[in-house]
Amino acid sequence: MLEQLDKQYVLNTYPRNYVNFKKGINATLFDDRKKDYIDFTSGIGVVAVGHGNKEVADVIYEQVSNITHISNLFAIEPQAILAEKLSKLSGMDISTFFANSGAEANEGAIKIARKYGQTKFNSKKYKVITLANSFHGRTITTVKATGQKNMHTDNFAPYPEGFSYKNDIQDIYSSIDDQTVAVMIELIQGEGGVQDLDKKEVQNLAKFLKEKDILLIIDEVQTGVYRTGEFLATNLYEIQPDIITLSKGLGGGVPIAAIMTIHKDIFEPGDHGTTFGGNYLSTTAASKVLDILKDYKEKGLLDESIIYFKNKLSKLYNENKHLFTSEVGLGFMRGLRVKDEDTLNKIIKNSFEEQVLILRAGKTTLRFLPPLTITKEEIDIGFERLSKAIYKIK
Ligand SMILES: *Cc1c(COP(=O)(O)O)cnc(C)c1O
Repeated sequence: MLEQLDKQYVLNTYPRNYVNFKKGINATLFDDRKKDYIDFTSGIGVVAVGHGNKEVADVIYEQVSNITHISNLFAIEPQAILAEKLSKLSGMDISTFFANSGAEANEGAIKIARKYGQTKFNSKKYKVITLANSFHGRTITTVKATGQKNMHTDNFAPYPEGFSYKNDIQDIYSSIDDQTVAVMIELIQGEGGVQDLDKKEVQNLAKFLKEKDILLIIDEVQTGVYRTGEFLATNLYEIQPDIITLSKGLGGGVPIAAIMTIHKDIFEPGDHGTTFGGNYLSTTAASKVLDILKDYKEKGLLDESIIYFKNKLSKLYNENKHLFTSEVGLGFMRGLRVKDEDTLNKIIKNSFEEQVLILRAGKTTLRFLPPLTITKEEIDIGFERLSKAIYKIK
C-alpha cells in the first residue's frame, strides 16, 4: 500500500494526504479508484499548462530521446533560446542563470547582490532587507531571508548574517543603512497569505533604491510566468528590478528556476554553478510552456478565464460572508480570508471529500492557484463542489 511504503521509506517532512493520483488531464485528477478531483492547486502553482499536457509531453519525449543532459561546460541551444524568450517576454534587457528550484534561484540572487556589494563600493555592503510575512525558500540562507519568524528555529542555527524583516514598505526606508545592498520582496506574497503590495508604494521604493544604488530583487517564484495575468508581476507593477527570480510555473512540472538580472557583469566564470541547471530537458519543456502561455494570453483566453474564475469566487465569497472576511489576490493567484484557522481546516478537508483540491496560505487564507489553462467547465464543477463543501460547515 502506498501509505505504508511512504511512511516506511520516505522522510517524514510533509503532513500528507494519502490519495493515490494516477491520471491527470488539465485541471482534473483521477485517483486509483478513478474518482475525479478538480485541481485548484496546480501542485502549488507549478503545472501552469495543466496535467498531462500533450504538447509539453511531446517536446520532452523528443528531446530526451535524443539528448537529456550535457553539462554547462558546453553551450546548450534550448537554454539560450529560453533565455532569449525570458528577456523578450519581460521587456527587460536581462541575462539569465538557470537553476532548479525557487530557493536555489533566490540563493543565487543573494549571491549576485553580495558580490555587487563586495565589488562596487569602497566598503562592503551585504545586508538584505525582506518583508515580515515573506517566503523565499528552505535552504539555510533562504529560510533566513524568509520573514516568517517561526521558520528560524534554533534547530538549524547558526544562520548567515545580514537579514532583517520589515512589516511594510514604509518600514524598509528607515532600516536602510550604508551596509544595505538589496531589498528582496514578493509583489504578491504567496505562502504568507496571498497579499499584494500597493503598486504606487512599490514604484516609489524602486525609484528610491535605484537612486541609492541598492538592488531590488523581486521573488517571482510564485507570481511569475503569467500567474497574475501578466508574464511577470513586475510588468503589472511597471517597475524595473535589478534581479527577478522564477521557478514554480516555468517548467510545467519539470524542475527549473531562473535568476534574471540586468547586471550581466557581476558573475564571472567560477562564481556560481549548478549541475542540472538549464539542461536540455528542463529548458525544452519551459520553452514550450512559455509558447503555450504566450499564445493563450495573446488570444485573450487567459484574461477571459481569470475573469470567469474571479466572478465565481466573488459569488462564493458574497454568499458566505459568515465564514469569509475578505477576498484577496489577483489573476490566477487568489484567496479568501477565513474567519479562523479551524474553519479553514474544515473547508480544506470538506473540499477534498467533495473532490476539489485547494490550498492554504498563512494561517487563515484559502488559496487558489489553478492551472492557467483550467476550462470553464472545470471551474464550474470546482465551485459547485466547493459550495457543497462549505455548505456542510453551516
Ligand atoms: C515556493 C516559493 C519559493 C521556494 O521555491 P522552492 O522551489 O520550493 O525552493 C520561494 N519563493 C516563493 C515566493 C515561493 O512561492
